[in-house]
Amino acid sequence: MIDPFGRHITYLRVSVTDRCDFRCVYCMSEDMTFLPKAELLTLEELDRLCGAFVGLGVRKLRITGGEPLVRRNVMWLFESLGRRLENGALDELTLTTNGSQLRRFAQDLYRCGVRRVNVSLDTLDAAKFLAITRWGRFDQVMDGIAAAKEAGLRVKINTVAMKGVNEDDFDKLIGWCGDEGFDLTFIETMPLGDIDGDRTQQYLPLSIVRARLMERWTLTDIDYKTGGPARYVEVGETGRRLGFITPLTHNFCESCNRVRLTCTATLYMCLGQEDAADLRTPLRASESDGPLIAAINEAIGRKPKGHDFVIDRRHNRPALARHMSVTGG
Ligand code: SAM
Ligand code: SF4
Repeated sequence: MIDPFGRHITYLRVSVTDRCDFRCVYCMSEDMTFLPKAELLTLEELDRLCGAFVGLGVRKLRITGGEPLVRRNVMWLFESLGRRLENGALDELTLTTNGSQLRRFAQDLYRCGVRRVNVSLDTLDAAKFLAITRWGRFDQVMDGIAAAKEAGLRVKINTVAMKGVNEDDFDKLIGWCGDEGFDLTFIETMPLGDIDGDRTQQYLPLSIVRARLMERWTLTDIDYKTGGPARYVEVGETGRRLGFITPLTHNFCESCNRVRLTCTATLYMCLGQEDAADLRTPLRASESDGPLIAAINEAIGRKPKGHDFVIDRRHNRPALARHMSVTGG
């Protein structure tokens, strides 16, 4: 699949549920209305959709949500997708999780062929963790991360940078990730979906974070690429990689290789644009994948050049109405 700007689409992110056992302040409001369960694709349908994308050239699948590990029977999907690793159709199967269920599933994930997980963790302070996630249990997440490590999964920590909330925690996170052997990526808050607070209060440009970190750590630019939007440096003192995802201060769209599928089979060609394609109708219209493949190709043909997020005083409404938990970040 090649889009109109010559970018090869080889990476699909699949949100398997919009539900979550946490209510992170930057992601959701506390009383969220989720999709009625009947509207969700079945796991078999998700598997068939992923298969169609793999047939069209997707080499990397990331399962996300909502919290992917709270979807009932989700290991069936991992198992089925894992078979595509075995037969060489797929290079990587991975997931993004809040870590709450990792103790339960880490070994199964490894068995299904998963080798890396991204775990979201914004602080190492238990009280602050509760304030950020509202419903999360810090000890459970730390235990989940330990389970992932024990199972042989490589862990990358994702930290959303929030002004006045966790800016004092970054040094500790860098040190801890160094000790544990984890890479770490900082993410700027993106204006997606209505939340209870005001985003202009939360937004912390990573250019500032980086300048501050350089007073304490030796950061060297490296040319490491995961096919994702992060720019990496190496932290001299720990030897670990540190990534910066800067959708607002730096536009990373020119190398975008991905599209995103929701749990209702809506395909978003860009995280930062409203345009989407309905794949559920062609999926259910026929047992043959012909109509589905035609719809995917048509959608890739209109993948936009990029997004134009802005957070400032004049734009403190969400740039997009949908929450990150719909498209999965
Ligand atoms: N529940 C899983 C988790 O938290 O890792 C997977 C889904 S979550 C939507 C994926 C990532 O998006 C997480 O790292 C989360 O911190 C990030 N995220 C959520 N809302 C965001 C926002 N408004 N701006 C930036 N990152 C956001
Ligand atoms: Fe749930 Fe992840 Fe959103 Fe937090 S960021 S509310 S864990 S989906």
